[in-house]
Amino acid sequence: MAAGGLSRSERKAAERVRRLREEQQRERLRQVSRILRKAATERSAEEGRLLAESEDLVTELQGRSRRREGLKRRQEEVCDDPEELRRKVRELASAVRNAKYLVVYTGAGISTAASIPDYRGPNGVWTLLQKGRSVSAADLSEAEPTLTHMSIARLHEQKLVQHVVSQNCDGLHLRSGLPRSAMSELHGNMYIEVCTACTPNREYVRVFDVTERTALHRHQTGRTCHKCGGQLRDTIVHFGERGTLGQPLNWEAATQAASKADTILCLGSSLKVLKKYPHLWCMTKPPSRRPKLYIVNLQWTPKDDWAALKLHGKCDDVMQLLMDELGLEIPRYSRWQDPIFSLATPLRAGEEGSHSRKSLCRSREEPGPGDRGAPLSSAPILGGWFGRGCTKRTKRKKVT
Ligand SMILES: [Zn+2]
Repeated sequence: MAAGGLSRSERKAAERVRRLREEQQRERLRQVSRILRKAATERSAEEGRLLAESEDLVTELQGRSRRREGLKRRQEEVCDDPEELRRKVRELASAVRNAKYLVVYTGAGISTAASIPDYRGPNGVWTLLQKGRSVSAADLSEAEPTLTHMSIARLHEQKLVQHVVSQNCDGLHLRSGLPRSAMSELHGNMYIEVCTACTPNREYVRVFDVTERTALHRHQTGRTCHKCGGQLRDTIVHFGERGTLGQPLNWEAATQAASKADTILCLGSSLKVLKKYPHLWCMTKPPSRRPKLYIVNLQWTPKDDWAALKLHGKCDDVMQLLMDELGLEIPRYSRWQDPIFSLATPLRAGEEGSHSRKSLCRSREEPGPGDRGAPLSSAPILGGWFGRGCTKRTKRKKVT
């Protein structure tokens, strides 16, 4: 296209002028930024004049610095002092007692006590990967339901909690004894593989992490369906994927629960992912008819401004106080009563070598069925639901 009838040398001259202006602008920005970092009393008259002449730049730089500070504050973990926390828990207890339909949303923060690292905390998987650091973790299959998982199961049994929606793939809600119908594992369950060729989908609960060979957009576990011989797939929904499986995601129940809820309790979730699911927050209802929100998290969440109450505390601490306040005993987790063992489908002959992850067993001493390798305690997490896929934020694609 003709450039407004300018000759080649005119165009070049114009380009030089433009570059020069940009360079001057950058130099001025550097100067102003340097002066702003000084205390007002230490600025020379000359510097004061430059600031007065660069009002726009000053406003922009101050805005940038405020945003940086804000972001830093959002990363920080804050704890309420013990007295404050007790007062807030009393308020929460009364909300739990008075709720007609209470739904609990849980995130990685409820599993950190089970030595499963969280995602966005200062040492979370996501945070570390963002900083280019590698991630290792204690053997995930040694993790057991925490005090928080057990308390939630009890609250459900007492009909104080109607439904649980979790982002966690660690299977700990299932293992706490919470009935499957009362939970939606939105991002899958590391112990479940399914055959999608069978109608309805045939589910295989296993006593080991089924995801060691799977990753983003690659879900086949390497085993096959006992019924039809089809390839089994894991149930994990990675960042950038859309979960379409009926179970264990159970979106239908999650949406229905959210629409009925008058109270929502969020435990240990940054809510950065959950906030993107409008159905969970009844955003189509007018604000006055949306459920009351109670948030327990050490860090800032994007829903804090909407919350009736924000509790800055560790989930296990808050739940212990809450159960005391409600006069309920917290059941102790027992491997002997872990429902995963009765739900599990045993591997068939010839399938024992199809995985190298440590199997769960009813007692800690006894080796699990088909165990081959040593515990993975210090090994970096490679394949599977916890390793690859975490940082890959690619365009949305339907899970096949
Ligand atoms: Zn099948």
